[in-house]
Amino acid sequence: MICTKTPACPMCSRWDDDVELRIMEFEYSYLILNRDQFFPGYCLLFSKQHSTELFDLDLKTRQGMMEEVTRTAAALAALFKPDKINYELLGNMVPHIHWHLVPRFSSESLWPRPIWSEPHVETILTSEAYRQRCNQIRQALEKR
Ligand SMILES: [Zn+2]
Repeated sequence: MICTKTPACPMCSRWDDDVELRIMEFEYSYLILNRDQFFPGYCLLFSKQHSTELFDLDLKTRQGMMEEVTRTAAALAALFKPDKINYELLGNMVPHIHWHLVPRFSSESLWPRPIWSEPHVETILTSEAYRQRCNQIRQALEKR
């Protein structure tokens, strides 16, 4: 698959910019850990192709990416045992298809509201903890 990069788009360069947070390269998308781990296991899955809307993708790419979203969500559910996985695809600020895949727990202070419903203090991990969490998710994906 050809990656059509758009210079001003932060998502087009995200895989190169956030090497420490890389989890997996899929056929149609990339998966990285979100730097803020306030929600444990929060990942970003973004299309290799610079597109804004799902309907901009050809059918094969869209279906393939949705399988990658689903496979990731299943791996996160198996690993973190959340009450719900949230799937958020907005693109208002960064108009390049990227899914926020967020394990959610009923024990959270923000539950059951959307993750952006009120501000929170970011949870930044050590490099070693990022490496471990990325490895755990990668291993959970390899079982799927
Ligand atoms: Zn882009």
